[in-house]
Amino acid sequence: MRVIVVNSGSSSIKYEVFTLDDCASVVQGLLERIGTRDARFRRRWLTDSGDWEEIIESQPIADHREGFQFLLDAAVRYPTTRVAPGAFFGFGHRVVHGGEVFHEPVIIDDDVIRRIKELIPLAPLHNPPNVAGIEALRALRPDVPNVAVFDTAFHQSMPPKAFHYALPNELYRLHHVRRYGFHGTSHQYVAQEAASYLGIPGDRLNLITIHLGNGASAAAVQGGRSVDTSMGLTPLEGLIMGTRCGDLDPAVHFYLSRKTGKPFDAIEDILNRESGLKGICGMNDMREIQRCAEEGDAQAGLAIEMFCYRIKKYIGAYTAVLGRVDAIVFTGGIGENAARVRRESCEGLEGLGILLDERRNSEAPRGGVEIHCEDSKVKILVIPTDEEREIARQTIETICRAGGA
Ligand code: ADP
Repeated sequence: MRVIVVNSGSSSIKYEVFTLDDCASVVQGLLERIGTRDARFRRRWLTDSGDWEEIIESQPIADHREGFQFLLDAAVRYPTTRVAPGAFFGFGHRVVHGGEVFHEPVIIDDDVIRRIKELIPLAPLHNPPNVAGIEALRALRPDVPNVAVFDTAFHQSMPPKAFHYALPNELYRLHHVRRYGFHGTSHQYVAQEAASYLGIPGDRLNLITIHLGNGASAAAVQGGRSVDTSMGLTPLEGLIMGTRCGDLDPAVHFYLSRKTGKPFDAIEDILNRESGLKGICGMNDMREIQRCAEEGDAQAGLAIEMFCYRIKKYIGAYTAVLGRVDAIVFTGGIGENAARVRRESCEGLEGLGILLDERRNSEAPRGGVEIHCEDSKVKILVIPTDEEREIARQTIETICRAGGA
């Protein structure tokens, strides 16, 4: 039996197939440009000989339903090792916004779909394609259970003092304006991995988890539960990101609107797509930014400085929130690979018991590793995230708990 983890976007479907018994990844695929005559399909799969094989194909795909049919057919056309291509234990769907309704993964039924749709105003770009994926797979394989795993769920343990904005309370009551936090699956995954790496039960650990990818967020995790996180009502708040500004004086919106005459949609677009690292130096790929900074590009250097300074401020804030920090965990494409970012984010924090070992940091290989000095009170870990594996794990657990095993 196998589990498919699905990330259904507006014009793409990303998926990964795991075996049920040992949660091994056996297929990774991406179908892009759905809705065009030239959809692009890339699939890697594990063959009987233990090697990975890859194909890239193009063909017209009208919508998500056709896309999923194509993917299910591809499973038969390119069989992978060990398991029958049609034997699915469950489908695990990444759903971006679970609002205050969903605190944990759930088996999807009509009522769950209705409630995910009710949350569309909070995630207008993400929840609709997530629902399209769920509906397509339910229609194509009604015999297989579907589980929704929410990006926001892990942060539902935040206390009111952390999740409320200081706005009129009726905005919360009437319009659900509050902080939700995102990247929950990643923060939860690396928190669990850190606990098993350190050999300490998660409920006895206080962690600051820092996910630095194209999107970026930090979380304060106390005894395995998120008590604060840097993203808010939307994924725009908090750390500086590839193209998102992160924390900003809310008056900037009104000032810009009055000054430039741009409508709010255009300003929203600037804050989401033209800001962050890209806004500062014109590039949003950290590898390229580092290269340019080394060659003396001052704006690229400033972008890295600002990026790290913001992370450092959150480390300080979450140290205060947690009182005692056992470990800081870096993850995501930048967190796992950019030694300079880790170094500059931890620089000058000796007073908080945070001492990074530069040799360990710069030599850190991929995979879980510690990069703190022997006498650092706070451990500093680099742990690769694996949101798909975590969704697979939660999907299996949820189906078993519901008695579907
Ligand atoms: P996403 O959030 O889309 O999943 P990733 O977690 O893959 O993104 O992170 C993408 C970011 O990681 C990019 O800014 C990329 O430049 C950066 N990155 C990847 N490898 C390296 C590296 N070796 N050094 C520095 N940055 C890296």
